[in-house]
Amino acid sequence: MGPGPPVRAVSRDEFSLSESQSSRSAQQQVAGIAELRRIHEAFAWFRSHARQLEDLQLEVTAIPAPPWGEASRSQWLGQRFTDLALSGVHQDEIGNVFGIRPGSDPNAPYIALSAHLDTVFPVGTAIEVRRDGNKLYGPGISDNSSGIIALLGIAAAMHHAAIPNRAPILFIGDVGEEGEGDLRGMRHIYQQPKWSANIASLIVLDGAGTDTIIAEGLGSRRYEVTIRGHGGHSWSDFGAANPIIGLARVIDRFTRTPVPATPKTTFNIGIISGGTSVNSIPESATMRVDTRSSSVEELDRLERALHDAVDQVIPELTGRKPQELLTAEVRIIGNRPAADLPVDSQLLKMIRAVDSQLNNMAKIQRASTDANVPLSLGREAIAIGAGGAGGGAHTIHEWFDPAGRDLGLKRILLLALALAGVSDE
Ligand SMILES: [Zn+2]
Repeated sequence: MGPGPPVRAVSRDEFSLSESQSSRSAQQQVAGIAELRRIHEAFAWFRSHARQLEDLQLEVTAIPAPPWGEASRSQWLGQRFTDLALSGVHQDEIGNVFGIRPGSDPNAPYIALSAHLDTVFPVGTAIEVRRDGNKLYGPGISDNSSGIIALLGIAAAMHHAAIPNRAPILFIGDVGEEGEGDLRGMRHIYQQPKWSANIASLIVLDGAGTDTIIAEGLGSRRYEVTIRGHGGHSWSDFGAANPIIGLARVIDRFTRTPVPATPKTTFNIGIISGGTSVNSIPESATMRVDTRSSSVEELDRLERALHDAVDQVIPELTGRKPQELLTAEVRIIGNRPAADLPVDSQLLKMIRAVDSQLNNMAKIQRASTDANVPLSLGREAIAIGAGGAGGGAHTIHEWFDPAGRDLGLKRILLLALALAGVSDE
């Protein structure tokens, strides 16, 4: 985050005055950038290249990118970055792709734009892409091919219009955002000091639309609970401890845990498995549990409740004989941090000013995105859509309608430049 104002006691009036002054200056800054001839050229590029962007979107969607299998898509994006004359184009050791548009101030930290490369579709999913009327179809066409195309559109328009950005713009295609990828790509990036110490703000481009600002990270934790026993025959070993019954009791206890409506907190048992046949006492039973909350304290409380349920049930079913012995294991299979962007942050002021400049209506929302990672470290980040409209996300019937994509691209470009600054010519 940028340096804040010096801490001192201020009266309420004084505070609201300085607040409105700083949002007015954000508005002036955005309006000044929007007037520049080169920005108009970039906006015109978005309109005149709409068809080429659609073709590229079909092309990238056709490259499978299952969780932990993004390599060919990473390679494709690296080639596009090179074609667009970005500098320092490279992949890191896990497949994140980087390209830089240098700025006129060599010491300024990066303003980063990112789009996740992965889809939810497992290896072997038939990927069919097509254009039908004005719409594009294909698994992942909106989430997140539209974000990837926005990266390329912004880089291309800045190059074409020779926009003199002051701070360098860092373009990132990252792996492992979806599901059990668990934000591994963005986590890895923020574990590298060369990135974490030098990215001032991160703008995550995820999915279609222009009507939301995700400035609040939804935290989640996921667990796999396995109960193991001796097993046996349903008739001759009757009385041996039964892991399925143990798991059922754990579920019963855990799901009685009260959760608050505010901050909204939820739990779900999504998968349960175990056993070999109807006349066997099972040797093991497993379930997967999802917990979500905007509050880390509530996630901690649910975690304790899950452990307590297990700790109470196991001794109930475990007797003195070996066949009465049950053991339990609780394993974390997902952990996404929860944190919010402060309401007085520069990034929030700027996106508000950009929306007002473009007459765009957008609401602040909470979701789990790549922005969770920097937000949880106290850094500035938001997630916004890449324009156009989309639907059927996470199904093979996913679609994208490019009408209105240029509003999304203008919004991203103005925001990036308001944060990076534009040099005098
Ligand atoms: Zn996504």
